[in-house]
Amino acid sequence: MSGDSVTKFDRRAVLSGMGALCLGGAAHLGSSMPVGAQTAPAVPMPPVPRLTSAHGIVALTSVQTNRAAVALTFDDGPHPTHTPVLLDILAQYRARATFYVIGQMARRYPEILHRIVAEGHEIGNHSWSHPTLSQLGDGAVLREIDRTQEVVWRTVGAQPVTMRPPYGAFSRRQSHMLHDQRNLPTVIWSVDPQDWRRPGSSVVADRMVRGARPGAVILAHDIHGPTVRAVPAAIEGIAARGLGFATMSELLGWGRWGPRGLRYVSGPATDYQG
Ligand SMILES: [Zn+2]
Repeated sequence: MSGDSVTKFDRRAVLSGMGALCLGGAAHLGSSMPVGAQTAPAVPMPPVPRLTSAHGIVALTSVQTNRAAVALTFDDGPHPTHTPVLLDILAQYRARATFYVIGQMARRYPEILHRIVAEGHEIGNHSWSHPTLSQLGDGAVLREIDRTQEVVWRTVGAQPVTMRPPYGAFSRRQSHMLHDQRNLPTVIWSVDPQDWRRPGSSVVADRMVRGARPGAVILAHDIHGPTVRAVPAAIEGIAARGLGFATMSELLGWGRWGPRGLRYVSGPATDYQG
């Protein structure tokens, strides 16, 4: 199906159609799968829905919104031990987040990918092998993105609708190219706690809280133990500022991301009220 043909259909019909096609993947939620195993693709991956381009977003660092919510985003996983601990914490606070996964890691830990989706979080594309994409040609960039789209689709029956370049290294021209070719907006961040420098959990939490404002996109990495241990204090501090937690799609007003495609649901950005 070409991208243009999608626009001729009602958007909801296309998305709900995707949902029907995705049931094969969703049926495997909760099953114990051996490491490296993947759900067989029942159907080829469809194009990313047009709703992203309908909003004209090519690249962003934060979201223009009146909604009192931030997006917590975690890069570079899934990690075999730290990501499950983080998921426990997010569940405890009933806060949703977005995981920008590396395709190679997603292929290695499909059971964690299943858990991320089953617990209401969103998965974004963080390339296949974490190269500096700004140094690659367009063909190589698209291969990095496509492989990750494919592994996420095959594993959980849903495909990322945003991309975050490793190191934030992506030119404006490349963002336009990716948007034109794959309908994927580039999501950078507005708050960087520099957690990869390991400044300590309390410093990471403080930086996340200080940068929080409506529409903020907060960067962190779920491959570092101190970062994961910073999350309870960060969540409590952000909630104390009157802000909730939305996934990227929710913050952008696209609805709830998941194996049935993007669903148009209204409601609070989070159940956690502090
Ligand atoms: Zn990264």
